[in-house]
Amino acid sequence: MSSERLVVVGSLNMDLSVTVPRLPRPGETVSGADVVRGAGGKGANQAVAAARLGAQVRMVGLLGDDALGSELRERLAVEGVDDRGVRQLPGVSSGLALIVVQQDGENTITLSPGANHHLDVPALGTLTGGTLAHSADTLLLQLEVPLPTVLAAAHQARTAGALTVLNAAPLPESGRAELAELLRAVDVLVVNETEAQGLLPHAYDDWAEHAEALRALGPATVVVTLGADGAVAADAHGVCRESGFSVDAVDTVGAGDAFCAQLALSLGSGTPLGEALRRACAAGALATTRPGAQSSLPSTDEVEALLGDVTRRHEGESEVHHAC
Ligand code: ADP
Repeated sequence: MSSERLVVVGSLNMDLSVTVPRLPRPGETVSGADVVRGAGGKGANQAVAAARLGAQVRMVGLLGDDALGSELRERLAVEGVDDRGVRQLPGVSSGLALIVVQQDGENTITLSPGANHHLDVPALGTLTGGTLAHSADTLLLQLEVPLPTVLAAAHQARTAGALTVLNAAPLPESGRAELAELLRAVDVLVVNETEAQGLLPHAYDDWAEHAEALRALGPATVVVTLGADGAVAADAHGVCRESGFSVDAVDTVGAGDAFCAQLALSLGSGTPLGEALRRACAAGALATTRPGAQSSLPSTDEVEALLGDVTRRHEGESEVHHAC
């Protein structure tokens, strides 16, 4: 069992999911199955993912003082996540995500941020008692809480000597200058294809080239996730590609969160980039085999089992052009 220490500053939501035969178009109604209720929010998902993968995890974030908030806090505790940095704000609603999932796993998400939007810089200071991270920690960030708070957290972690990993999701519609500053303040950037394209004025022919171009924005390591096609990563030593794992995907919700948690833990413990990428792809793939966000997150034993099961891999070994 790993003793990696991870701090997550981010969102906590309740997810309400409905599976439909196909996603509705604007103005259209499509009937689906019964509602499935699950704990979510990219911050909490990545915190729980890391806890299941064997890390000591501290969550920093805000909930409403409603029943959903109490339930979400309880679920964090059940997962073994240190929730002393989580508070329930009086008179505020907890974050809520409305998720519609097509039968092939494709999904849309509508978000009501609620208490997550109240996580400003003073609140961050109150929740952490002024000490966010130590040098042995890895800080994992996403963009479902206010950008100035994410930026402050990244600066504090860097000052403390912690490894800072940013999953730049979802990309903000405003605050480009702050986002540019944030990219210069993090060590590792993880984005999916849409986010990768949103960060650059034009797309490159090849995702490896795109990842290299993103490195010029600041992060020493950039990882682009490519869904069923795996992921590509670039750092100062070159490029790594992982072709992904062949699994029966039922719902891709949670895949990116499992990927980010595993990647952050591996890089935080000094695992070479190529191996970290492979482990992260295994965690992401496993999360697609079960429905829901936190309910789909794999354990470290499941990741080990998939890594050992070479017959379930896409053709060939991972293509590596890197000292990894
Ligand atoms: P996001 O959900 O954030 O858009 P991706 O869809 O790229 O991110 O998924 C994150 C990671 O999860 C991928 O890099 C891949 O390793 C894994 N993954 C996602 N979908 C599948 C799939 N259908 N089969 C196997 N692995 C998958």
